[in-house]
Amino acid sequence: MTPTSTLFNLPVATAYDSARWTEAAYDVWQGSRMPAEALARRAESRLQTLIAFAREASPFYRRLYRRLPDSPPLGALPPVNKKQLMDHFDDVVTQPAVTRRAVERFIADPGHLGASLAGRYSVWTSSGTTGKPGYFVHDPDALAVYDALESQRFRGVRSAADLARQLINGDRYAMVAATGGHFAGISTVERMRRWVPWMASSMRGFSLLQPIDRLVAELNEFKPTLLAAYPTAAEMLAAEQEAGRLQLRLREVWTGGEFLAESTRARLQRIFDCRVRNSYGASEFLPIAWECPCRMLHANTDWVILEPIDRRGRPVPPGTRSHSVLLTNLANRVQPLIRYDLGDSITLQPEPCACGSGMPALVVEGRQDDALMLPLERGGTVAVVPLALSTVLEDDAHVYDFQVTQTEARSVTVRLGAGEGVPARTVRRALSAYFDTLGIGQITIGVARRPPTRDRISGKLRRVICRLPQRPISPDIS
Ligand SMILES: [Zn+2]
Repeated sequence: MTPTSTLFNLPVATAYDSARWTEAAYDVWQGSRMPAEALARRAESRLQTLIAFAREASPFYRRLYRRLPDSPPLGALPPVNKKQLMDHFDDVVTQPAVTRRAVERFIADPGHLGASLAGRYSVWTSSGTTGKPGYFVHDPDALAVYDALESQRFRGVRSAADLARQLINGDRYAMVAATGGHFAGISTVERMRRWVPWMASSMRGFSLLQPIDRLVAELNEFKPTLLAAYPTAAEMLAAEQEAGRLQLRLREVWTGGEFLAESTRARLQRIFDCRVRNSYGASEFLPIAWECPCRMLHANTDWVILEPIDRRGRPVPPGTRSHSVLLTNLANRVQPLIRYDLGDSITLQPEPCACGSGMPALVVEGRQDDALMLPLERGGTVAVVPLALSTVLEDDAHVYDFQVTQTEARSVTVRLGAGEGVPARTVRRALSAYFDTLGIGQITIGVARRPPTRDRISGKLRRVICRLPQRPISPDIS
């Protein structure tokens, strides 16, 4: 029987045991001090254990690897993509309790945000830059590793006592995100609130999909000292802070989920008068990379393998921008991800970082969507954050292959790919309803049955593009 929390009356993770947390914390502590060669040996040994496990417990991988020898080198394994893993979901996963049906039923209930499937597993959905969303299931061992990586490398916390001290010192944590879906970041906030109820009052998720005035009022009331948001959302809040409507006294701003331009970082630092920490993560592996004091992102190579590849899937050397990257998650067993095509464009840095870390530094160029700048009914403009817009189109209009372009102040066009059969009026209705909640005035929404266009250089699909001559709030895109 699954124990229930009296506070939430929902299943809580039986898995939050201190032995598992301590083991992961010690492992990550050791890894942080290892030179590059020792980290590579550690990763290789974990990889071989994972491959052997996947061949044993996952019918999908058993079939995929049937002609391969024992202990194959990583490069010999065929890459996998989201469509394959979703199409063969029940054959990929290694636990009978975790089926596609069970996962879909679980995530359909918003009350399950942060709760555990079958009392053990976290489920995160990816809104993905291409195609349909994916479901990613993580087991308690993987969650303990992610938590240890986040707290020690990203936040610089050395022990559980340290973490407690930070909280007791009065840190209040606000994450501004799409709160309606099981996205990795917001699900993790809700998981922590369920697991450690005494932290629940000092950490909270705030919906990005609400009118900016209401969001500003909620944040002013909560008074966070740590703010986590997509860079475009943080910039939108910085504009409110500069105008004097938002009055936060922050200790740090944490950004992730989108490309962070240096100009954006400088603006956030100036307006909020605090440190900005960037991170890189995904629903497939939550903390892929952490930011060191030299402001470089370092990949957690003891627990995740990244292979940058070109358009044809061939490896690209450090210093060269990749078309995509293959990710191998060494921590998670329930849904093995081995050479999984993540779709992000990254560049591994050829030189070691001045901070001395044995983990390679990288630059992420993925997810370079713009914010739209739309006119408010009461005057002025508002920045509409790309991930919020994408969430509305996916969740309310059920379209996935789209591209929104703004070329004039009062006009946006939505391109729909050939596979999207949803009527144009459904798309218009979903966007209009969202724009109404933001207080946006009269604008024209065009829907075109033309496939989205890809970036000529990276081949990546940008889903939200603002082509206004002046964009006061938007990431710099080179
Ligand atoms: Zn560094």
